Amino acid sequence: MNPSAVADSTATHAFDDLEHVRQMIQSCIQCGTCTGSCPNAFAMDLTPRQLWRHVMLGQPAVVFGSRTFTLCSSCYYCTLRCPRGLPLTDAMHALKRLGARHRLTPHKASTAFYRQFMESVRRHGRVNELEFMTLYFADMKNPLLPLRYALLGLRLVAKGKLSLRWPMRRQRPLEAIFCKAVEREEGR
Ligand code: SF4
Ligand code: SF4
Repeated sequence: MNPSAVADSTATHAFDDLEHVRQMIQSCIQCGTCTGSCPNAFAMDLTPRQLWRHVMLGQPAVVFGSRTFTLCSSCYYCTLRCPRGLPLTDAMHALKRLGARHRLTPHKASTAFYRQFMESVRRHGRVNELEFMTLYFADMKNPLLPLRYALLGLRLVAKGKLSLRWPMRRQRPLEAIFCKAVEREEGR
């Protein structure tokens, strides 16, 4: 992604918050073990080691212009193997949260996707694919976006993997867990 896309967006607060992440990884020695361990590094525009270097240098436009942290699948392998014992997966999560909280332009699609997925789980106890994707498309405000998923949707319907019934009841069976997670995130 283009760092200027972030620099142009309203990202000032996210940039300030990067200091918190920098403190998490400040004793990094740039050994590259995290990159060598990461199963998703091949798809990242910055390797994990490079990402941590830019965090240490205080370069938020580069950090938030990268999609590296959005591709972290939380396998914890880098955390397990880092010789400095750094909380690398937690730091990736922190970057994801900042990207979502401040609605940074380059991460708009992945943020909307995660948000609608989790809202659907919160309402029903599991994701309802039809509702989830409909609300994701509405969130993105791009009338052409559903076309990109049309073929996949038809295949899933044909195989009986996707129900076309709109969920009616919202029992919120996981509400207590979600409320607790929000409490912990806000440090209450
Ligand atoms: S494994 Fe740890 S010390 Fe090595 S580059 Fe990655 S974060 Fe830095
Ligand atoms: S936790 Fe994320 S960054 Fe670390 S190895 Fe796994 S996918 Fe890569």
